[in-house]
Amino acid sequence: MGVFDLEAPRTYYTRPMSPPWSKPLDIDRLADGEADIDFAVPLAELPRLRSQLASVDGMVRGRVHFTRESGFIVADLTLSGAATLACQRCLQEMTEPVESSVRVALISAEADASAVPEHLEPVLASGGRITVGELVEEELLLALPIVPLHGQQSDCAFAVTEPAKGDAIQVTETPEQTTQKPFAQLDKLLKR
Ligand SMILES: [Zn+2]
Repeated sequence: MGVFDLEAPRTYYTRPMSPPWSKPLDIDRLADGEADIDFAVPLAELPRLRSQLASVDGMVRGRVHFTRESGFIVADLTLSGAATLACQRCLQEMTEPVESSVRVALISAEADASAVPEHLEPVLASGGRITVGELVEEELLLALPIVPLHGQQSDCAFAVTEPAKGDAIQVTETPEQTTQKPFAQLDKLLKR
């Protein structure tokens, strides 16, 4: 057995590095250093976003700057990109542009939220740690529509699709199904 035979399989055991946006950050240290972090986060890998939306894909990029204000650790988050979502009227893909700039107060307990000044958005960083992914996810949960829909009903796939022979009944049923969806989603949101 040659040297190459021994070395070749080792590549299989190389642990893939976790992406930088998934690493918990010490926010106290970052605020002291007034740190800037650039990021690129794939939306399909954010678990809370995935559980809220029927389908999500795409990428956002941006920068987070850490600092302090009125006794809070503050993160200035700027992000832009596009989310690929499933339209809840026709269930086909649609692209939702994302453009956000927000100033967040990182709190260590939910009880601290009431003390956060109004112009800051409280976000929980348990144990003084948060990942860039969590920060981005928090913002996207607010920015993205709970019930994504194509802008115009005429943009929807079924509006332009010729119904096959004998499918007339199914086509007329479609609007009825979609009107129920928003309530199902809203119900889910209220239970959170
Ligand atoms: Zn649609």
